[in-house]
Amino acid sequence: MIHPILAYGHVTLRRPAADITKNHAGLKALIEDLYETMYAASGVGLAAPQIGQSLRIFVTDGEAFSEEDPAVANFKKVFINPVIVEEYGDDWFFNEGCLSIPKVREDVERPSIVRVQYYDPDWSFHDEVFSGIAARIIQHEADHLDGILFVDHLPALRRKMLQNDLKAISQGLVKTTYKMEFPGQKKKPARV
Ligand SMILES: [Zn+2]
Repeated sequence: MIHPILAYGHVTLRRPAADITKNHAGLKALIEDLYETMYAASGVGLAAPQIGQSLRIFVTDGEAFSEEDPAVANFKKVFINPVIVEEYGDDWFFNEGCLSIPKVREDVERPSIVRVQYYDPDWSFHDEVFSGIAARIIQHEADHLDGILFVDHLPALRRKMLQNDLKAISQGLVKTTYKMEFPGQKKKPARV
């Protein structure tokens, strides 16, 4: 099922998400929904809080970046309870965007390599190292699980310059090709 993506300003995006327990009811459906919603919005990563589920899980598919970085051609993965245990390598700038912050793209500086521990949908434990764009997607999505958004990493002056754009997004004054839910927006009452 395709869910609306929560827009900047929504409280759920700022809440640290909870760990997922083994045998979590509805895990399979949640993974399917994350993928369906991500693909419908042409994203390369989507975290559960972005569809209103405050749980530590995100999905990725780096295919769209495979020309730029062939290593992400097969970067289709589900990360459950991910923990970034190490970040190292040279800091580099990469132009990030976020489905929750449509039309805003900014160069963000982060370390180039991450070591991440996580569970996959079969509940196998992984301890892996990623670099380049794969590392970047992991860093961006893992932030979502801690209530952090990529604009938080920008220098204060740049953030200030974006203030009006961010406010407009939170008020729903933005057009997207995918469905979004804006803070304060009332859900339509169910038809009787
Ligand atoms: Zn994002």
